[in-house]
Amino acid sequence: MNILVVSAHPDDEIIGMGGTLKKLSKKHNISVLFLAEGITARKKSGHVNVPNYEVDNIEKKKMQREIEWRNNNAIRALKLVGVKNTKFLNYPDNELDTMPFLKIVKSVEKEICRIKPKIIFTHHYNDLNVDHRLAFESTITASRPLEGSPVNSIFSFESISSTDWKLPYSFKPNVFVDISNELKSKIHALSEYKKEMRKFPHPRSKDTIEAVAKRWGSLYGFHAAEAFELVTSRIKNFNNSLFS
Ligand SMILES: [Zn+2]
Repeated sequence: MNILVVSAHPDDEIIGMGGTLKKLSKKHNISVLFLAEGITARKKSGHVNVPNYEVDNIEKKKMQREIEWRNNNAIRALKLVGVKNTKFLNYPDNELDTMPFLKIVKSVEKEICRIKPKIIFTHHYNDLNVDHRLAFESTITASRPLEGSPVNSIFSFESISSTDWKLPYSFKPNVFVDISNELKSKIHALSEYKKEMRKFPHPRSKDTIEAVAKRWGSLYGFHAAEAFELVTSRIKNFNNSLFS
């Protein structure tokens, strides 16, 4: 089965579903489409956020190198969970709302036509990060259920430090994937994104991500789990079980 992950930035795919990717990649063909580059919103190199908007050409060049670095980290992180197919659009970070929405939709449509995924995973509609929200919007627009569309199901994953920081909180997961055996691989893959990770008690920390996995797991009798919100599912027959 072909599966597409539409991720706003390199790191969201592992934070949201690194364990599930490890599980699914054993049997299925997974491709990850990254929409934005995840660097230039900081407006300063060295992975430092500054409150200024304008930047000079020197900073721009430095950040360009960091984009390449982060994309390479994504390739390495995904390899650790068994995923080899990646595509980076490098749209401007935290500025997808400045682009024509149609352009983003067409980019996702192109991947759907190429990959023909039965399942798509993407962000939650109510994340704090604007790129995440537009990843969701463009995905459901690009995969509208026309006759002949390959897409049967869409799931939203959780982006710790974005889904949980959007108020009012509205993530209502209804699918829980046992990642008891995959949690270690997820944390290992996250180490490729060490510049994006923060120290506890920041939510985007190793400790919090482990704690959240254990918390979701404990609700459903697993040692660790990743939580998803099923957005839509159309079923022709019941031959396939998604995650068994
Ligand atoms: Zn993100």
